[in-house]
Amino acid sequence: MFNRPIKNVVIQLTALFFISQIAIAETFVTIGTGGVTGVYYPAGSGICKLINQKLAKHNIRCAIESTGGSVYNLEQLASGKLDLAIAQSDVLFHTYKNAEAAASNDENQALRTLFAIYPEPFTVVARADSGINTFEDLKGKRVNIGNPGSGQRDTMEVIMKAYGWTISDFSLISELKSAEQSKALCDDRIDAMVFTVGHPSRSIKEATTSCKTKIVSVTGPIINELVKKNRYYRLTTIPGGMYANNPDAIPTFGVGAIFVTTTRLSNESVYGIVQSLFENFDSFNNLHPAFSNLQKKQMIDANLPAPLHEGAKKYYSEMGLL
Ligand code: GLU
Repeated sequence: MFNRPIKNVVIQLTALFFISQIAIAETFVTIGTGGVTGVYYPAGSGICKLINQKLAKHNIRCAIESTGGSVYNLEQLASGKLDLAIAQSDVLFHTYKNAEAAASNDENQALRTLFAIYPEPFTVVARADSGINTFEDLKGKRVNIGNPGSGQRDTMEVIMKAYGWTISDFSLISELKSAEQSKALCDDRIDAMVFTVGHPSRSIKEATTSCKTKIVSVTGPIINELVKKNRYYRLTTIPGGMYANNPDAIPTFGVGAIFVTTTRLSNESVYGIVQSLFENFDSFNNLHPAFSNLQKKQMIDANLPAPLHEGAKKYYSEMGLL
């Protein structure tokens, strides 16, 4: 019926139509993580890898973004610029509860959880020559309190308030991002850095191998009181032997890293995401050393600071996990 060139064009157009249909059917999701030397970044990257392995089944294509941390991630989620993110349980708790309490239709009310991942101890590393042996010793010193938008900045502000400190209680404060602080510490531009992070992390490895430093305990009645009053805090330790020259476990307190989304992401997509990860749980546990002790039930029973997404709930119910 057609002469040859026209027939070729028809074939090409038909092929193009089907290819574009496949492309349209894909859902693209971006996970907001943190600085590249933290754990959110490699964790997000591993999660995406497992999701993308199931691309043919769920049509979900995943990518990650390095970000300023928890506070930034939740802001971007709420405004629809990110689809998924990792965020600290304390930051998520405050953001979600404040939204719930707000009379107006706050967009943070749409925040939903998929599961809790791993613990994040509040970690203070000080130069060995700084004379800092405890958290209280930070007073009067040069301290990096974290970039605005990071989880550690948020947690640090809570602790400072509990101690009755303001920024003028330090001889100098800096607001460097997590990936910049170990270099600043070893260049002697600061005496101490703080990072709410899973272990082991590249950042703390850098800080403990590039110069003489020590991990400092964060303990005492003020910390005990904070933990007692807030269900998203726990007394914990940074295991000994994980970093150079730190053979003993260091007591501190910590939060949890939570995998978060919003109601904007469809039930079907969230179902596909949790299925891709939970059906391949051995690979999930091997994504990062901080993931190695995870158990499915604990991850969803972990006192989540915002409601579970309906798509995740459906999968967990079907698996008998809820
Ligand atoms: N907890 C940190 C934050 O919320 C990030 C930790 C990481 O990058 O692993 O900003």
